Amino acid sequence: MGKTTGFIEFSRTLPILSDPRGRLANWREFHAPLPADELCRQGARCMNCGIPFCHTGATFEGANVGCPLGNLIPEWNDLVYRGKWFEAYKSLASTNNFPEFTGRVCPAPCESSCVLGISEEPVMIKEIEVSIVDRAFAEGWIAPNPPKFRTGKRVAVIGSGPAGLAAADELNKYGHTVTVFERDDRVGGLLMYGIPNMKLDKRLVERRVGLMRSEGVEFRTGVAVGTDFTAADLLAGFDAVVLACGATAPRDLGIKGRQLKGIHFAMEFLAKNTKSLLDSDFKDRNFIDVKDRRVIVIGGGDTGTDCIATALRHGCRSVTQFEILPPPGPKVYTHEHWLSRARTFQVDYGQEEAAVVFGADPREYCVLTKRFVSNGRGRVRGLETVNVEWRDGKFSEIEGTEKFWEADRVFLAMGFTGVEKARLFDELGVALTERGTVRVDDDKRTANPKVFAAGDCERSQSLVVWALADGRKAARSVDRFLHGSTGN
Ligand SMILES: Cc1cc2nc3c(=O)[nH]c(=O)nc-3n(C[C@H](O)[C@H](O)[C@H](O)COP(=O)(O)OP(=O)(O)OC[C@H]3O[C@@H](n4cnc5c(N)ncnc54)[C@H](O)[C@@H]3O)c2cc1C
Ligand code: SF4
Repeated sequence: MGKTTGFIEFSRTLPILSDPRGRLANWREFHAPLPADELCRQGARCMNCGIPFCHTGATFEGANVGCPLGNLIPEWNDLVYRGKWFEAYKSLASTNNFPEFTGRVCPAPCESSCVLGISEEPVMIKEIEVSIVDRAFAEGWIAPNPPKFRTGKRVAVIGSGPAGLAAADELNKYGHTVTVFERDDRVGGLLMYGIPNMKLDKRLVERRVGLMRSEGVEFRTGVAVGTDFTAADLLAGFDAVVLACGATAPRDLGIKGRQLKGIHFAMEFLAKNTKSLLDSDFKDRNFIDVKDRRVIVIGGGDTGTDCIATALRHGCRSVTQFEILPPPGPKVYTHEHWLSRARTFQVDYGQEEAAVVFGADPREYCVLTKRFVSNGRGRVRGLETVNVEWRDGKFSEIEGTEKFWEADRVFLAMGFTGVEKARLFDELGVALTERGTVRVDDDKRTANPKVFAAGDCERSQSLVVWALADGRKAARSVDRFLHGSTGN
């Protein structure tokens, strides 16, 4: 339970991030480890609350509460406090296949559910998680551990993002023979070509994939299922299929001027950037270069923030981020706000970096883009906006607030609308929902009894931690389908 008086004696420490100006000069991870004695103090703040909500992964009044993976947080906090790092790693690995990813990129819904958060800053859970797994790798505690027996059953996983990787890892542990199909040239889905390298070093993704390969998982990259490999071959060649193909259809902005050159979906900017970085350290020039450009990002979420941080590393001339919603209120620690999923004001790494370079937070709130403006030669030279006001969940335009903004590059980061429409779903006999996602039941089964689905493709765009939880759940259901039961 940590130290009885730990939460009274010690306050929450902030994670160590490298200096914004220094980190803008490279694409390395900006996150630095905390010293072991500080982690021990942070673990000691865990206060043995009667009902620890942090690890429940339950739904409460329509909202998800705690860690979706059910990570045994109070247990490993206590183990870290006592210096029992190996045991802490064993506990963490029992619920989380890839803590090196969640410990870096998870927005930590566990911390919003920490009982300490009723009256003060919650326990620092995510930092402890990443420190446990980084130490486990450094100590050599994580090594290939192939299953002792094989069941003879073959399972195909379509898509190698976190959901597909978690499903494959679990199914392989159960002894099934797993093939992961990935249409990209590298494994990892949005872990590889979505989240930028400075937030998640791609060598960590490759290290984990290497481990899985050594344990017997087969990865077939550059294979788009549905075109390069037919649905019929899939159903004939495998005993079960897990769809983990993501929800990557981007939301567009169908306004005047959308066809102009220089307007891109955020994912084109981010994915090309990481590929060029990994392939050639940008020498191939196969990316959207915004050096000396005026950049506008439409969309105030995490994808938009990643665009800002990427544009700043290119050396853009200016960067602005539009958000249609009003600015959220500050985070407060009271009983009324505890467990709340309400937006609260945060300065993420991209905004912090923009403020250092240009002297101000790049976000503009309550801004609606009305039309893109051409330079007369088919390329965007700016856009027109109007401010909006919100009432009862609806906005209306404020007369007289029309404004022109100069821009050479515009990135659309307004979320995603579901799976990419493909014949594959029909051919597999899988139904879609009105939200454009794969329809599944509570056990992740689709309309086809041998086809299951996990992650964004059935949940719609979400978080890495949810993709892992869904992948694990789908794997359990597949195991039950293949065996009639599962010991897991
Ligand atoms: C820019 C960006 C930043 C993000 N940052 C964070 C963050 O910091 N923290 C966080 O928790 N979440 C973040 N997310 C969300 C998170 O990345 C996703 O929720 C998560 O990756 C979903 O995992 P998935 O496995 O379901 O799908 P994906 O990661 O999308 O993987 C799907 C994979 O399937 C492949 N595929 C699709 N169709 C086929 C086919 N027919 N044949 C073969 N392969 C196919 C795709 O190429 C892709 O590799 C971010 C998302 C974006 C877009
Ligand atoms: S995976 Fe996310 S929610 Fe779960 S313990 Fe880690 S930081 Fe918290």
